[in-house]
Amino acid sequence: MTRFSGQPSRKTSLTGLTDEGDEIWIIRSISQKFYNCLGCRGPIEIGDEHVVVQYVGKAGGTEHSHWHQRCAEEILYSQVRGMRQVSSKESSRDRLESRGRRPAGRRRRPR
Ligand SMILES: [Zn+2]
Repeated sequence: MTRFSGQPSRKTSLTGLTDEGDEIWIIRSISQKFYNCLGCRGPIEIGDEHVVVQYVGKAGGTEHSHWHQRCAEEILYSQVRGMRQVSSKESSRDRLESRGRRPAGRRRRPR
């Protein structure tokens, strides 16, 4: 258990950095398609609440994957540097794609 257990939620997302200095965003989502969780390879069915893990590269570009919330919590959370809670508005697809169009030094700090 960490202080981020059970997060993210509809109102809040989590963000921090990987060891390589890429941004990692952990966002609550409702699945529109069938996915396999990247952590356990188990199913995420249509309509399931789960988390999207989105990377925004230090040099630009984005990449995302789908996870069970618990798998992300068990496997990923301890690897995220400086993880903190932000408003889920900061982690909309548009905003993250726009962050990915700039290198890390030219991005605004999320609130
Ligand atoms: Zn899983």
